[in-house]
Amino acid sequence: MTGKADAQSFDIVVVGGGMIGSALALGLSRQGWRVSLVEGASRDTLLQAPEPASAVDDFEPRVSAISTASQRLLESLGAWAGVLEGRHCGYREMTVWDGDGTGRIHFDAAELHARALGTIVENRHIVRALFREILASDVTLFDGVRVRGWSPARGVELEDGRRLAARLVIGADGANSRLRQWAGMPTREWDYDQQAIVCTVRTTRSHRFTAWQRFSLTGPLAFLPLLNEDLDDKFCSIVWSQDTAEARRLMALGDEAFRAELERAIEGELGVVTAVSRRFAFPLRQRHAKDYVADGLALVGDAAHTIHPLAGQGANLGYGDVRALLEELERAMARGLVPDDKLVLARYQRRRKGENLAMMTAMEGFKQLFARDELPLRWLRNAGMRWLDRLGPVKNRIAAEAMGLVD
Ligand SMILES: Cc1cc2nc3c(=O)[nH]c(=O)nc-3n(C[C@H](O)[C@H](O)[C@H](O)COP(=O)(O)OP(=O)(O)OC[C@H]3O[C@@H](n4cnc5c(N)ncnc54)[C@H](O)[C@@H]3O)c2cc1C
Repeated sequence: MTGKADAQSFDIVVVGGGMIGSALALGLSRQGWRVSLVEGASRDTLLQAPEPASAVDDFEPRVSAISTASQRLLESLGAWAGVLEGRHCGYREMTVWDGDGTGRIHFDAAELHARALGTIVENRHIVRALFREILASDVTLFDGVRVRGWSPARGVELEDGRRLAARLVIGADGANSRLRQWAGMPTREWDYDQQAIVCTVRTTRSHRFTAWQRFSLTGPLAFLPLLNEDLDDKFCSIVWSQDTAEARRLMALGDEAFRAELERAIEGELGVVTAVSRRFAFPLRQRHAKDYVADGLALVGDAAHTIHPLAGQGANLGYGDVRALLEELERAMARGLVPDDKLVLARYQRRRKGENLAMMTAMEGFKQLFARDELPLRWLRNAGMRWLDRLGPVKNRIAAEAMGLVD
């Protein structure tokens, strides 16, 4: 077997062209690095324009609440205009309440002098917008082919036998990252014993450009507002995270029974639920790599961390990684350093690990707080929510942080 000698050579190889890896590859290429991106799906699939949506099954079930900070990153990469060409829905308000109590908290973009708290976008629209930019850039794209192996000595090996050499390889290959496994990078994992049921619904009342989140003892239910091409404001994407046994029961229900349960669970806030799309269930597992970097390797996005979807922050944390790594590598280039410089990678890890861990810990705390039925805890969360709701500046600071507007 040969070493790296017969390989195509780059400064940086990004493995995984999801929402996170494709943004990073594009940004690095714009900085002047020689970059290649390897993505298992084909460009034809990723660039396919979605059909207009007139029914619940026309929407992609996986959506993301893109924060203002993530939006700015996509703007700086020239991809946000492409995102806006597809279906998207800016939400101006967010209402969170305790289904087992009286606590309620309401966030309003107007109080923050902002036009929206964030934008709900189907994941495929974001990837499509990024790939359109990638095809017009200097990124060398290997699509429709998977990476089957990597080691520092042999570089990246594609399943068709081609080989790529680079000083720095970036694992953006998602929650079950093979790069992370090949590098022997341990993770801290815990199972929430919950599943997220994801689908699209239509209701009789407008969603009022509000993200709705109701907590119950068995887990949170989110209604995220969508808009179709006709600007119909009665579609929502739902993420219903429930304890595994309860999620299994809900998944086994017929459409009519599920629809009725959903309508009860959202307490009629959006009127009658008239249609429910096909349902998908994802097991929820929190995972955090102990290190984000190793010799010649850095992890970003879900490859480094997966988080409970209750605050809709997974992709936003990934975009935080992208911003930090772009800044560090831009500085490295200006100083004439190699991209796998140990101090450069260590700085990236230092900047991101603490922030990601803080968000993961906060989500875990939230989940625990709402999963407990003891009277003092119920009192605490309900009184706490009411108190916070009246405390404008503190509440607005929390909202600004969630939007990524606070450094
Ligand atoms: C139910 C649910 C709801 C969520 N809601 C939100 C939300 O509202 N807001 C939010 O911010 N986040 C949300 N998230 C999280 C968000 O979806 C993820 O954080 C985000 O998709 C991670 O992107 P990624 O690019 O890191 O990984 P992925 O999207 O998993 O992309 C990995 C890419 O790598 C490719 N790949 C993998 N292995 C290989 C290989 N060997 N060779 C070549 N290519 C490979 C794959 O084809 C894929 O394209 C949610 C998650 C779940 C489960």
